[in-house]
Amino acid sequence: MSNIDDILEKALVGEELTRDEAYRLYDDAPLQLLCSVADTLRRSKVDDPEVVTWQIDRNVNITNVCKSGCRFCNFHCKPHEEERAYITTMAEYRQKIDEAIAMGADQLLLQGGLHPRLGIDFYETLFRQIKREYPTLRLNALGAPEISHIAQISKLTTVEVLTRLRSAGLDTLPGAGAEILSDDVRRRISPAKPSAREWVRVMHEAHKLNIPTTATMMYGHVETPHQRVDHLITLRDLQALKPASSRGFTAFIPWVFCPTGTELERSGVSPRFSATEYLRIIAMSRIVLHNIRNIQASWLTVGKDVAEIALHSGANDMGSIMIEENVVSSAGATTRFDKEAMMATIRRAGFTPRLRDQLYNYRDA
Ligand code: SF4
Repeated sequence: MSNIDDILEKALVGEELTRDEAYRLYDDAPLQLLCSVADTLRRSKVDDPEVVTWQIDRNVNITNVCKSGCRFCNFHCKPHEEERAYITTMAEYRQKIDEAIAMGADQLLLQGGLHPRLGIDFYETLFRQIKREYPTLRLNALGAPEISHIAQISKLTTVEVLTRLRSAGLDTLPGAGAEILSDDVRRRISPAKPSAREWVRVMHEAHKLNIPTTATMMYGHVETPHQRVDHLITLRDLQALKPASSRGFTAFIPWVFCPTGTELERSGVSPRFSATEYLRIIAMSRIVLHNIRNIQASWLTVGKDVAEIALHSGANDMGSIMIEENVVSSAGATTRFDKEAMMATIRRAGFTPRLRDQLYNYRDA
């Protein structure tokens, strides 16, 4: 087994780490050294090392009805729970979009559950209507599990679903639903959700269709430390398969499991969050994911102070101020940001804040 300095030297010259080398770093490298190397790599990857980017968008939920029943999710309800179930109406979209645009948003993050009756026609109609009324608004919508679900109930392939949704107005596909890309873990936290292999397959199809996506990881529940590293390697290897002309994964966003009131919490799974573990994951992300340019600090789940340190540990982006967010917030995430607080936090960390769009182009704040 190589020693830690040799492995880090290999990362610094841009060589890909083996799985065992990544395990060794994650298990044994001193945190300060790991973060310092990750920060050096961040500086070499981004156009302006003194800049940290951020975004304004609104997360609107299409429906809270979901047949998946993930054990970490408080947001969803079952189709028969009529008092809780909703499908957002066009009038509600208009109100939410008008508010978001007035606050500077250029994008809607549209997510929902795996509704047993909402197939391709529903989503095509919805996307077309929103784009007709708001042609410059970008739609960052759904995720690999929703694409698989829509394909299944519409009797289409996932490529057909992606192609039709793109024609209807889909701009980018969020990386949601990855959790930990291990079927062993998924069986324990989200047994009815599409498999890890299916998530990878749909993302690869999106990349081949030149639909940019992000990638996520929700950690700190039942997974082992090495399953986190495996997750990073799966993403790195998938990114290597994208066509040269495709953006592929534009960013990686790891966040910690929020337990409050979840079925996982009731069954005795407590979160294993610590600031040092989060920083280790951010640094490892930068080191392992040499082919994914942007690493995002998840202020929503770890808080502003830890997110600030993450910007010195490999992260180069603070994500969105999220004018509205209901999924993670319903499981105990309480941090909130407005524009001023976001920019002040980035400045306090020693960087220049720059507003960006989903593809990391700068916008005027
Ligand atoms: S996380 Fe998503 S797929 Fe899982 S139950 Fe909640 S809404 Fe459904």
